[in-house]
Parts: sequence; C-alpha cells; structure tokens
Amino acid sequence: MPTLVMKFGGTSVANLDRIARASKRVAREVANGYNVIVVVSAMSGKTNELVGWVNETSELFDAREYDAVVSSGENVTAGLMALRLQEMDVPARSWQGWQVPVQTTSAHANARIEAIPTENIAAKFADGMRVAVVAGFQGISPEGRITTLGRGGSDTTAVAFAAAFDAERCDIYTDVDGVYTTDPRIASKARKLDRIAFEEMLELASLGAKVLQTRSVELAMRYRVKLRVLSSFEEPSEDAGTLVCAEEDIMESNVVAGVAYSRDEAKMTLISVADRPGIAAAIFGPLAEAGVNVDMIVQNISEEGRTDMTFSCPVDQVRRAQDAMEKAKQAGSINFHDLVADEAVAKISIVGIGMRSHAGVAAKMFATLRDEGINIKVITTSEIKVSVLIDRKYMELAVQALHDAFELEKAD
Ligand code: ADP
Ligand code: ASP
Ligand code: MG
Repeated sequence: MPTLVMKFGGTSVANLDRIARASKRVAREVANGYNVIVVVSAMSGKTNELVGWVNETSELFDAREYDAVVSSGENVTAGLMALRLQEMDVPARSWQGWQVPVQTTSAHANARIEAIPTENIAAKFADGMRVAVVAGFQGISPEGRITTLGRGGSDTTAVAFAAAFDAERCDIYTDVDGVYTTDPRIASKARKLDRIAFEEMLELASLGAKVLQTRSVELAMRYRVKLRVLSSFEEPSEDAGTLVCAEEDIMESNVVAGVAYSRDEAKMTLISVADRPGIAAAIFGPLAEAGVNVDMIVQNISEEGRTDMTFSCPVDQVRRAQDAMEKAKQAGSINFHDLVADEAVAKISIVGIGMRSHAGVAAKMFATLRDEGINIKVITTSEIKVSVLIDRKYMELAVQALHDAFELEKAD
C-alpha cells in the first residue's frame, strides 16, 4: 500500500474538536487506500508554555532537561489522535520518538535527525495498522536521552518520515492555506504562491518565515520529497495549497519571491577589541560553544590596532552571549572595553532566485526603506537574498513597504 505523510501543526490540533476534524481527514486518506503516517505538533501554545516553565525554573538551563519537558506536548496529541482514530474504527497507534526510534544527534534543543529505521512501524503496517501517529519534534540521542529538533521541528519530523518511508507525498496542514509572498498576518496584500522553489523556500524559512522549519525544506530538497503546504480548515482539493518543488518545475516567477522577517533579534557590539589575527576565532568560538546562534557579523575598520565587532543573535540568547564573552575576558583570551546589546531589532529579508540575474534589487530595497525613514543597522547579502537589521518598531512597516515596492501582490 502506498504511504502518505500528513502533518498537523499546533492550531490544527489545538483542542479535541480540531483533533477530531484532523482525524476525519486522515480517515479519508485511509479510505483512499493509503497507509498514513501522521505527524502531530503539541496543541497550540503548549510548547511556549513548557518553554516558559523551563526558563522560570532555570535561566541557563540544562538542555537535556529542557528537552525532557518541552517534548511532552507532542506525546499528548499523538495519543489523543490515535484514540480518536480508534473510535472511528481506524486501526491506529501512537509512536513517541524513542519508540520508532527517531535517532538524532545529541545537540539537545536543536538536534538533527540522523536515521529513522522503518522496521518497527513497517511491521505494524504489515500487521494491519493503518495509521501511525508520530509525536513530532522529538527523537532519541545516542546516549538514550530524549532530544528535540528546534522550534517548528515537527515539519522536519514529517519530511524525514516521508523520505524514510518513500511516501507518495508529505502534506503539511497548517493555519494558512499555503506559502505566501510574505506572512499574511502582517501584510494583507500577501499573495498565495501555487509553487515555490526549494531554494527560495529554504531562504525564506531560514530568514524567519516559520510556515516551514528550515531543516524540513533542506531534507525535502535533498530527498526530493513531494512537499505541500495547505490549510487544515478548508476542504481539500487536488491543487490546494503550495507545492514546494524544484526550480525547473516553475514556469515563471518574480525577481523577488517573498519577504521574510525575524522579530526577536538582538544586535551586540564588542567595543574596542584588539584587531589581531585570531580575534574572530577568540570571540565566535566561545559563543558557539555556549550555544549562541550568531547570524550577521560586521567588523568595523580599526583605529590604532583596535576595532568594534558587531554580531546579531536571537534575543533570548543575549544572556548566554554576555556570559560567554565575560568568561572569555576573564580567561584573558579577549579584551574589550564594553559589550553593548540592542535588544529591540528585527531582521527583514527579501528572497528570490531572480536576483542572480537582476542588478539593482538591493539598491531598490535600501531606497524603499529610506523613503519610509527607516534606518538600516546591519546589511548582509547572498546570491538570492538581502537582509537588513532595523528597529523592531518598524518591522511591519518595512515588510509592507517592500512588498509594495517589489509588487509582490501581482504574479509575474
Ligand atoms: P503550525 O503550528 O501549523 O506549524 P506555524 O505557526 O509554525 O504553524 O506556521 C504557520 C504560520 O507561519 C502562519 O500562521 C503565518 O503567520 C506564518 N508565516 C510566516 N511567513 C509566512 C509565509 N510566507 N507564508 C505563509 N505563512 C507564513
Ligand atoms: N511544538 C513544537 C513547537 O512549537 C514543534 C512544532 O510545532 O513543530 O516548536
Ligand atoms: Mg510550525
């Protein structure tokens, strides 16, 4: 029997009614002749609540215990959906990560899936089970401890299962009806895309569009998983949602495919560090070891052998970063005059494969922000994206202005 993977995000399993509604959709695919692997998130808001409890208990928490706590939300929804399906006479069983087992690295709170042996679930399918309800976002480390895959990780669980089981398709059911040119919640003119290229989706996701976790897009691209994003609230149709696919499968596209934002960024500047060989390694080594996800980096010009080093990281890692830098200073490996944190910045990015062959896209972005009176604090570019750091209070304005400037409401 062919296999289908269906993933339901937090809002799609937010209460018992929604779990029942999602279960009906699953039952329909079973009736269509599929063995279904359902991947569920925790009920919406649950993971945030669990993360909050961890932070309240321990500021610089042990990530192994963080995982023990925050993985639990998915266990509840997996069990409840299996029960609901059983009530509908669909042979279903829940699976926690360790039972499959979903083997991951031991990078707690941000682990990567290394392998998904298919034998256990395949044996149950052979035995008559029709639905495996898998708790998303979690796995087991080589040391035998529970891990989680980073926020939004259930998407990655879903794509990884689709690859492991050679599924016909991986359907990501969420609270919007597809991938848009930007977050439809902050730009009413956002337009739904029928198709988006893996590369563009990868950039949008990694730059903050949380509709898919970055790693899930990477895996889909590598294993050529047929990945579709669609609404769990609308009636399904053949061409519903957005298909994430290879560039060759898209006929036309705009130079800029979309605008992404990341709200909770911080900009940190080490004032007056020695400008010498090895200084970047001496700063960013300890930050990496402390688990700080450094994103943009700028080194200023140096004066009299000293320079300022600026970097950005998620705002909830500022304490960790400060701690790591103070420790490095005490150990004598770096010396700086001050460490200044700006915790009220956001990152705005434009993404598009068309940028490879079109000049002037970055200049147009900068001019648009200038016209809105928005100051740019840091800029980074790559072949298919431009990102800027700005004051967080201008975030929505910047997204809308860029969406207008690049006429993203119109298809090319
Ligand atoms: P789920 O709980 O189903 O995993 P998420 O909240 O993680 O859902 O992701 C869906 C959300 O992603 C949408 O509600 C939307 O606000 C946001 N989003 C951000 N950028 C985009 C985009 N370009 N297209 C669609 N949704 C987007
Ligand atoms: N529940 C987890 C989160 O909120 C994983 C997910 O929903 O994808 O991050
Ligand atoms: Mg999500």
